[in-house]
Amino acid sequence: MSTDVIVVGAGPVGLLLAAELRLAGAAPMVLERLASPSGRRKARGVGPLAFEALQRRGLGERLAAHQPQLSAEKTKDHGSAKGHFAWIHKIEPSWQEEPDRRGALIWQPDLEAVLAEYAASLDVPVYREHTVVAIVQDDQGVTATVRTPAGEQQVRAACLVGCDGGRSTVRGLCGFGFPGTPPLMTARQARVEINGAERLPPSGRTPTGMLLHGPGVIGTFDFADGSEDRHGPLTREELQTSVRRVTGIDVTITRLSDALRFTDNARQAATYRQGRILLAGDAAHVHSPNGGQGLGLGLLDAANLGWKLAAHVRGEAPAGLLDSYPAERHPVAAAVLHNTRAQSALMRPGPHTDALRDIVSDLMDIREVNQYFGRMLSGLSTRYAFPYLPADAHPLNGRHCPDLRITVTTDGRRRTARLSDFTRAGRAVLLAPADSPALTAAAGWRDRLEVVEGTTVDEHGLSGVLVRPDGAVAWATASSSPADADPLRTALRTWFGPSS
Ligand SMILES: Cc1cc2nc3c(=O)[nH]c(=O)nc-3n(C[C@H](O)[C@H](O)[C@H](O)COP(=O)(O)OP(=O)(O)OC[C@H]3O[C@@H](n4cnc5c(N)ncnc54)[C@H](O)[C@@H]3O)c2cc1C
Repeated sequence: MSTDVIVVGAGPVGLLLAAELRLAGAAPMVLERLASPSGRRKARGVGPLAFEALQRRGLGERLAAHQPQLSAEKTKDHGSAKGHFAWIHKIEPSWQEEPDRRGALIWQPDLEAVLAEYAASLDVPVYREHTVVAIVQDDQGVTATVRTPAGEQQVRAACLVGCDGGRSTVRGLCGFGFPGTPPLMTARQARVEINGAERLPPSGRTPTGMLLHGPGVIGTFDFADGSEDRHGPLTREELQTSVRRVTGIDVTITRLSDALRFTDNARQAATYRQGRILLAGDAAHVHSPNGGQGLGLGLLDAANLGWKLAAHVRGEAPAGLLDSYPAERHPVAAAVLHNTRAQSALMRPGPHTDALRDIVSDLMDIREVNQYFGRMLSGLSTRYAFPYLPADAHPLNGRHCPDLRITVTTDGRRRTARLSDFTRAGRAVLLAPADSPALTAAAGWRDRLEVVEGTTVDEHGLSGVLVRPDGAVAWATASSSPADADPLRTALRTWFGPSS
């Protein structure tokens, strides 16, 4: 078998990456170890940037349909409708600088089903029970050895991307370094039937960790445990033991489902690219789920990499395009690891941490501080440093573009639309008024652009914006001066090559 790109892993990141590759004109093939999706209810949602990335491909409504039920469920489980930092639930949605940019609540298996359907609609081949066990790269391509029910096969491709999760085989086989910090705690959670729950203290901190429980659910953050096997499935006995360690109280769990064990191990691949092999998602970075950031991070890796890798394998990529993937995405994940480590430090048991938590909690009552935490956990502070931009460039440059409301004029008729109405095909979008010098400047790139003649309704005083396929703003201006056409041309050349 041969293809342009082998994507290892049909988790959410692998599925989105394969779809993005396909949209951008490459031929991907997804190889997945499992016979069917695991159904593990890990993530309960994604942040605003990942939601917008999926909305750009027309999947927003599918995600939003899950919101009402999960919103009520999450509020019940967390005891608060506010966001949290280190389980200090004080992040006030209505206080945030861009309160309309919200994430979506959806259980990970439901999101994976949406993405699998989306990939199938683009004819992306997904081979299940195909486990990658060896990888060799040479000057011409990559050969993966794959274990299948019919025996071992070799698959050949120009490039291979490991989207195979936190214990990535690709990362291990190809010798990517994975430095970081070992866990401070082990967390366990499950839906349960339980005897003795009435004897437990209320949810909250204990001398050895944290207990969370409500009708039919229980979870522990266990800082006193460093010994047990973290590879096998979580059992009733192990959860009971952890509840005892965290609270000093014996309960009997009679039924257990949706059981998960995880840690705050925080590690990141030293590089995301070795020649023809790349990493994305949990294969590239692992950290505690506090703040609900990992899946969103991985989906944005996929969005960032897809169009660049497609251009690379098609031989159309300008110099440095593929290397801009690690250059842009590595620092973003490093910042997430940093904030999850801070959260773990703030969750350590003991009176010193109690005192620090009180101070952080008080600080979060200050609006600007609250916004600082909100910006950090939502990812909305992400800004790529594009070297061609002048120091006084419009503040939207390098950020992910919100789903702008725009007025478009087609055949002399004005109508209101959204940016996401023009992004389904996965191309870059240039939005500018009909008489703008930007449209003339971009004439030589029209074959690679969706050109939208229109104006933004209410956002950022924009008169023109170039949005890359991954949503990053490559050029934005508030003026309509012909001088702005030069940075626009530079942006177009940087991302899409010379004009035709
Ligand atoms: C309890 C918990 C709660 C979380 N909550 C959130 C949240 O609210 N929001 C959020 O954004 N993130 C959250 N996360 C993080 C999120 O679940 C992960 O970041 C996400 O699963 C990463 O997706 P992925 O596709 O990179 O990897 P995975 O989902 O791990 O998928 C990897 C796939 O690769 C396959 N595979 C592995 N090895 C091979 C091989 N050799 N050959 C072929 N296939 C292989 C696996 O079978 C699997 O299907 C949470 C995590 C946990 C544990």
